[in-house]
Amino acid sequence: MEIRYTAIPAERLDAMRDAGKDEFGNKWQLRVAEGWEPLRCCLRKASQDEDIALICYSPWDSPSPWMEAGPVFVHYSACEGYSATTEYPEAHRRSRAILNPFDHAGARAYDHITFLGHEDDHEAALEKVLSEPDVAFVHVRSQEAGCFHFLAK
Ligand SMILES: [Zn+2]
Repeated sequence: MEIRYTAIPAERLDAMRDAGKDEFGNKWQLRVAEGWEPLRCCLRKASQDEDIALICYSPWDSPSPWMEAGPVFVHYSACEGYSATTEYPEAHRRSRAILNPFDHAGARAYDHITFLGHEDDHEAALEKVLSEPDVAFVHVRSQEAGCFHFLAK
């Protein structure tokens, strides 16, 4: 099974930068990274003093009652994105994560929600959830903060 890992699409981020605000009207504001912030545009941690922004983001691209929106860090200016789309993002491999799965109609697949600890094999767990016939895609989120990490399908 080949899993595709998707960061926030560059086109959506470019549109927000051009508009000077995120999709929820929050100003696109420069912050200086302390060096721990997980960046959802390229799926790595920020380095100290990098130019970043904190935005509100929803991984859905069409209206859905399951739509969750929340705070994520991204690069302030356009970056290289995440091109290793078949590789589990290294920066998230040891994180405490929740696999939040959805079915083919876009509804939450409650039976397959999975919590992962530091020592769990994230890739194997994701493969198991995605192999369920009623799971179409998974939003990987932070277990502590609930914020969105990336899309997998
Ligand atoms: Zn980035």
